[in-house]
Amino acid sequence: MYFAKLKGVKIIFVILAIIYVHISEIQPAYGQEIMEADTFLTDKGSFDITFIGHASLLINFRHKLIYVDPVMREADYSTMPKADLILVTHHHGDHLDSVAINHLLKKETLLIMPEKSKSLLRIKHKIKTIKAFDKKVLLFARLEAVPAYNIVNLRKTGEPYHAKGEGVGYILTLDNKRIYIAGDTENIPEMKTFNNIDIAFLPMNLPYTMSPEMVADAAIMFKPKILYPYHYSKTDTNKIKLLLHDKTEIDVRIRKF
Ligand SMILES: [Zn+2]
Repeated sequence: MYFAKLKGVKIIFVILAIIYVHISEIQPAYGQEIMEADTFLTDKGSFDITFIGHASLLINFRHKLIYVDPVMREADYSTMPKADLILVTHHHGDHLDSVAINHLLKKETLLIMPEKSKSLLRIKHKIKTIKAFDKKVLLFARLEAVPAYNIVNLRKTGEPYHAKGEGVGYILTLDNKRIYIAGDTENIPEMKTFNNIDIAFLPMNLPYTMSPEMVADAAIMFKPKILYPYHYSKTDTNKIKLLLHDKTEIDVRIRKF
């Protein structure tokens, strides 16, 4: 009886230790709120996506850590584990930050970004550049860059906030799951050619990216199974839920960014 109790206590202790390790892995920097993460099943296992904030994501794919657009204003990356892969969508300060990237680098880190981002980054690490429609086969994933740009939202000068050719979105394939991380874009016609997207991150804030109506239009073009509006700043997230409420095949998930 005593030993049975002791065994029970041990099991509880082990469970608590596992929970602690898991939470501490995604625990944000001192003083920040706890970040949310979702888990996804694949044909071979699972992966987690942590919503760090704004446009910053962390994907943990069987202990391969993939960071997307890491920036210090969203988290203290000096306290976070080193990256196996870093993907940068474009050169604006809410997506590209040399300090955050430097904290995440180890010798083997694969760092991928468009040419313009590379030209503005001041680090010693090797950088692989990518442009829309490039495809790369990585050791543990497949990667495709897709266009990301503005059509209707322009600066006062008439220039788009995001010029065609400067930034990209990424379609990342992990096992049998395809994840589309749009970067900063509008509902561009190229989205009609995207297929089998399981998880999509679409930016939703004016004037830089899309209104909820434009996000709904984008989602209807390629019908992701799961849609996360991100990069939404103060945009009312209820609107996108309402706009897509009859599209029951799209699971619209609102998370804290
Ligand atoms: Zn942005």
